[in-house]
Amino acid sequence: MAEELNVFETAQKQLKAACDALKLEPGIYEILKQPQRIVEVAIPVKMDDGSIQVFTGWRSQHNNACGPYKGGIRYSPKAYADEVRALSLWMTFKCAVLGLPYGGGKGAIKVDPSKLSAGELERLSRGFIDLIHPLIGADKDVPAPDMNTNAVIMGWMVDEFEKLQGHPEPGVVTGKPLAYGGSLGRTAATGNGVGFAVREACKKVGIDLKGARVVLQGFGNVGSYTALALARLGAKIIAISDLTGTIYNKDGIDIEGLIKYQAKNKAETGVPKIADFPGTQAISIDEFWRTECEVLCPCATENQITAEVAQVVNCKVIGEGANGPTTPEADEILLQRGILVVPDIFCSAGGVTVSYFEWVQNLQNYYWTEEEVNAKLERNMVESFNKIYDMQVKHGVTMRTAAFMVAIERVAQAMRVRGWV
Ligand code: NAD
Repeated sequence: MAEELNVFETAQKQLKAACDALKLEPGIYEILKQPQRIVEVAIPVKMDDGSIQVFTGWRSQHNNACGPYKGGIRYSPKAYADEVRALSLWMTFKCAVLGLPYGGGKGAIKVDPSKLSAGELERLSRGFIDLIHPLIGADKDVPAPDMNTNAVIMGWMVDEFEKLQGHPEPGVVTGKPLAYGGSLGRTAATGNGVGFAVREACKKVGIDLKGARVVLQGFGNVGSYTALALARLGAKIIAISDLTGTIYNKDGIDIEGLIKYQAKNKAETGVPKIADFPGTQAISIDEFWRTECEVLCPCATENQITAEVAQVVNCKVIGEGANGPTTPEADEILLQRGILVVPDIFCSAGGVTVSYFEWVQNLQNYYWTEEEVNAKLERNMVESFNKIYDMQVKHGVTMRTAAFMVAIERVAQAMRVRGWV
């Protein structure tokens, strides 16, 4: 079962493969195979009925050789400490592969936010900051949104932090509301980045994105903006699956219409349902994974492309919008089947890249246009894609190992000049 795969072990295996391919001194892997620090907190929340519930949260700080720790905070009933460790490890390399001056961090609270009222959610978010505030700061560790967290929650978190500090420090958190130091282009950034990454990969394998068929898992922040970005490039999104169901239309799903339909359902029922979208038909999960397409984008969560799924997917390129969607066994199968995997640590790095732009704008108190943000994002993504592709060709490794190699070279060099190894 997918849930039984420990993503931290997956992350360590990926790291080891890249360290071995680079023939690095063993100390590098020994330092990088776990976070420098992980804290677990118990967050008491006064519920609307007057009772107290205590939620478990974590902040993992993986490595800060290249700069302050950087990484999102997710709210999930399935969150666990090793998942947070893995996600923080991936963040170190995600930042390094894009050349951002950050290390890696990640946070999570074990909670199903759909079961909380807005007031309970706000008290939980502020309570988490109360407990981790000594560890974070614009030049220490900079959180951001991830699964089930958003700009509104980031706004509460910065407000709580600034109250505790006694002075403004908007750069402590990115992904903030625009009115509170957020950056134009941040909300769409991860999906836009997936769009650029997939476009570059398609060029290499000779796929014309105009009319190309895309199958997409997850229709939250990353999935919906990935769909929009790929549709803008001329692709047809023919199948989408999320926690509410799976929809299919061989001629392409109307993405803007689907976003409105989902928002209306959320406003009316609290559930962001995509199922039963007019003009689409329901298909089974098995049919979804087998759907013939040029590009498959897993944009939901970890461990979705398992060995079984890897055997049946019917695509040429996989663009990983989610963190850790492919298991190591599946990676082997996809390699043998000649499917090009554009790995998460690069493909989903658009969000942290624009988070970096937001942080720079906060520090200089000077704000850029959306066009400037998007142009800089595109340039960073294309340059990094080419570095990874060249590394892959030079060493005859997968794109995933090549991405880790580009990233680890940077982190290893920073650790060497600091005298850590
Ligand atoms: P989100 O909460 O906005 O959306 C998650 C989506 O995935 C929803 O549509 C949900 O229904 C679907 N989903 C969840 N579990 C699923 C399952 N088992 N099967 C099918 N669908 C499922 O989250 P998000 O911010 O879009 O994040 C999605 C992924 O992208 C996560 O792995 C996250 O770590 C990663 N990521 C997010 C960002 C960001 O900026 N938000 C940046 C980089 C990577």
